[in-house]
Amino acid sequence: MDFRPTQEQQLIIETVRRYVREEIEPLEAGLDPDAGELDPADQARLVAMTKQMGFYGLDIPEEFGGPGLDTTTRALMAIEMSQHRAGLYNPCYGTFGGAGLAQLYEATDAQKERYLYPALRGEKKGCFALTEPSGGSDPARAIKTRAHQDGDEWIINGSKLYISGADKADFALVFARTGDDPGRNGVTAFIVDTDTPGFHVERVVHTLRSTHYATELSFTEMRVSHDSVLGEVNRGFAIANDRLSRQRIPYAAGCLGPAIKAQEMAVEWAKNREAFGSTLAEKQAVQWMIVDNEIDIRHARWCVLEAAQRADRGERFRTEAAMAKLVASEAAGRVVDRAMQIHGGIGMTKDLPLERWYRELRIRRVGEGPSEVQRLIMAREILGGSFK
Ligand SMILES: Cc1cc2nc3c(=O)[nH]c(=O)nc-3n(C[C@H](O)[C@H](O)[C@H](O)COP(=O)(O)OP(=O)(O)OC[C@H]3O[C@@H](n4cnc5c(N)ncnc54)[C@H](O)[C@@H]3O)c2cc1C
Repeated sequence: MDFRPTQEQQLIIETVRRYVREEIEPLEAGLDPDAGELDPADQARLVAMTKQMGFYGLDIPEEFGGPGLDTTTRALMAIEMSQHRAGLYNPCYGTFGGAGLAQLYEATDAQKERYLYPALRGEKKGCFALTEPSGGSDPARAIKTRAHQDGDEWIINGSKLYISGADKADFALVFARTGDDPGRNGVTAFIVDTDTPGFHVERVVHTLRSTHYATELSFTEMRVSHDSVLGEVNRGFAIANDRLSRQRIPYAAGCLGPAIKAQEMAVEWAKNREAFGSTLAEKQAVQWMIVDNEIDIRHARWCVLEAAQRADRGERFRTEAAMAKLVASEAAGRVVDRAMQIHGGIGMTKDLPLERWYRELRIRRVGEGPSEVQRLIMAREILGGSFK
């Protein structure tokens, strides 16, 4: 396999790298270490810039006006875009635009008009409400939120937990049990306006993330019309499965940016900091940490690029995407941890971005499916998929 970027990809990598170094980092240096937003005027200026570069709305499919990037190029960009303090959860502060919820590309024309296109124009925000207090690793079986039909309407009762951004969202994609099947064939997806009577944001849940708070939601006798059903009744889990697996690849690539940057910082620090009469770089214990970082970064990069290339060739990539997510999230956590160790006291402070990456990376081993569930996905494919 050839993991070298093409000439065009190299040009894109260099363009994004320059953008991060020259536009994002100087602004970020003046922000609070936990900041999640740029000044609105800077934001508007940078969005105009990414539009001019032809990269705005990176994840929007080409038929909906996106730049039509292949998965490999998208992953290479994610590696570059996340190389700054807020880069893990807010790469380039959103100046490359959002894509809306991937599932909405499967919506009816009327639903697209009402939710997808306003989301793509930045006029509406959505959130994804799947996880419940009863569990998120195996949501198909854990979902207790119920919807029952009443004429042309559905009445939804239940609760959701850890739903990112619901406090600021205009609509939510809510998964509820509608059938007798206790698993994935009894769940329906509904698009619900967050101002619907009965939709409550119970509380904001503070997590290791600096921004993008999670929330707890409850639904009491929440009535929605039948037009709110996304896809088919009892087939909520079938929607956009391929797109979800594909999303794991840039998600994994995004973990690599902080790891690469942390390694650069560790190398620089080790070469210049002295202890016991010589630089840290001369101590074998430090050299080994730097080498282990390099092994982790390269291993994760290969996994990400292999998954991306398989996706681009139209081959099955479920196992590879799960492996990339698992390897990159775990490797990046180790790299940042070692980089902090090499930095000593200053590594523990908010003067450096390491502590934010360390905290936020920890979530990556649970979010979008815990490491154990990624292993389960791979085991099913390797062993034949006949067990649960
Ligand atoms: C910051 C943050 C933001 C989130 N945002 C959203 C969101 O926007 N929308 C949304 O729907 N959800 C969201 N989630 C929920 C997230 O997807 C779930 O937390 C995750 O899927 C795990 O579900 P759980 O917390 O219920 O853990 P559980 O399902 O209770 O699992 C607990 C642990 O058990 C282990 N485990 C589970 N299954 C297996 C298995 N088969 N074999 C071995 N071990 C296993 C794993 O270690 C797992 O971490 C978010 C979570 C966080 C922390």
